[in-house]
Amino acid sequence: MDALDVLTNIERVIPYFQPIFSADEHSIVGYEVLGRITNTEGVIDTLGPFFNDEEVPDEYKLEVDEKITKLALQKFTDEGQEGFIFLNRDARLLMLDHGESLLTLLKEFETKGLRLNRIVLELSEKTFQGDLDQLVHLLLYYKTYGIKIAIDNVGGNSGSLERISQFSPDILKVDLNLLRNDAGNKMYKDILYSLSILARKIGASLLFEHIEINFQLQFSWLNGGRYYQGYYLQSPSASFLDKEILKQKLKEKCQDYIRYEKKHLEAGYHFADLFHKEISHELIPLKKQCNGYDQLLYELAAFFNDKCFRLYICDENGFQVTSNIEKVNRKWQIQPTFKGKNWSWRPYFLENIMRMRMGKKGLLSDVYSDIDSGESIRTYSYPFGDGLYLFIDLSYEFLFEEDSLLF
Ligand code: CA
Repeated sequence: MDALDVLTNIERVIPYFQPIFSADEHSIVGYEVLGRITNTEGVIDTLGPFFNDEEVPDEYKLEVDEKITKLALQKFTDEGQEGFIFLNRDARLLMLDHGESLLTLLKEFETKGLRLNRIVLELSEKTFQGDLDQLVHLLLYYKTYGIKIAIDNVGGNSGSLERISQFSPDILKVDLNLLRNDAGNKMYKDILYSLSILARKIGASLLFEHIEINFQLQFSWLNGGRYYQGYYLQSPSASFLDKEILKQKLKEKCQDYIRYEKKHLEAGYHFADLFHKEISHELIPLKKQCNGYDQLLYELAAFFNDKCFRLYICDENGFQVTSNIEKVNRKWQIQPTFKGKNWSWRPYFLENIMRMRMGKKGLLSDVYSDIDSGESIRTYSYPFGDGLYLFIDLSYEFLFEEDSLLF
C-alpha cells in the first residue's frame, strides 16, 4: 500500500499493542503502540514502511500518527488500563511544532482520565539533525508532567552514549535482533554489557526488545533487563491481555536461568578453593628452594602448565615485582621487561587486592578478553604473603575443558 493509499484509507488505520513484561513481577507492565492498517482483503498490514519511508511527506506521517495515538489512548482510557503506554515518536517530527500538538493531545485525554505518568515517549533520535539542546529542553519539560522518556534502539547506536545520557531517559530500549545465539557476536555482547553499566549509572531501566528465542530472554535476565518485549513472549495484537498471562512461564524460565547461573558461579568458587589449596601446597617447598621470585614462578608455571599461560607477582599498589612468566609457542619464557610496571589503573585492581587482604583468600575474575590474544580468559589472583599478590592467567583451552568455568 503506498503512502497516498494509507492517507485516503485513514479510517482503516488501527493501533496494535505489544505487551512489555517486567522482570520483577513477570507480568505485563505496559504496551507499545504500533501502527497497523487493514487492507482491502481484510488483512492487517504493518505501517512500519510508511513511517520509515523518507519520501512520505511529514504531514502524512503526522496525521496517521495522531490517528493511531488517539485510537490507542481512547482504548487505553476506556478500558481503564493501569500500566504504561509506550508511544513512538521520531524526534525530528516531534520538534516540527516543538512538541506542542502531542502535549495538547495528551492533556485532552488527561481530562478523560488518562494519567500522564502512564505515558512513555519512545523516542528515536538517531537521525535527528536539529538543535539537540532544544530537544533536551522539550523532553525535560515533558518530564515535569510525569511523562517518561525511553530512547528507542540504543543497541546499534553505542557511539552516542554521551548524547543519550543528556536526555536523562527513564528507559533504554535495546534491540536484541543481532543476538541470535550463544556464540553470538562477541563485540555486540560487550556493547550490550556496557549499556547495562551505563543504564545503571544514569538511573535508567533497560528494556530488551525483539526477544525471539530463549537465549535472548536469558541474556536479558543476565544483563540487567528490567523489561522484556518480543515475539518469544507475546506478539502485538489489537487488544489488551491478562496481566498475568505469562506469570507462570516466566517464573519457570527465571528459575532455570538462576539455576544455570548459580552453577556457573559455584564452579568458579569451587575452582578458586581447590586452586588455592594446590598453590599453597606447591609454594611451601618452592619458597625454600628457589632463588628469587622469577625462578619460583618458573617452577610453579611448569607445575600448572595445563592450566595457565602467564604468571607474575605485584605488590599491593600494583607494581609488578617479577618478570612475566609466559608461555610462548608452548614454551615458558621469562620476560623481564614487565618488572616495575604498574597495574593499579586496571578495573577492580585495588578492590580485589583489598578483598584478598581482608579475606586471605584467592579470587577468580570474571571472563574477559585478553588484551594480547583477544581470547576469553580468567585470572586467578592469590595472596602470596609479605604484601605481595600472585596473578595467574588461565588459558582459554583450560577454561573450555572445565565444565561451567567459561559460560
Ligand atoms: Ca519502538
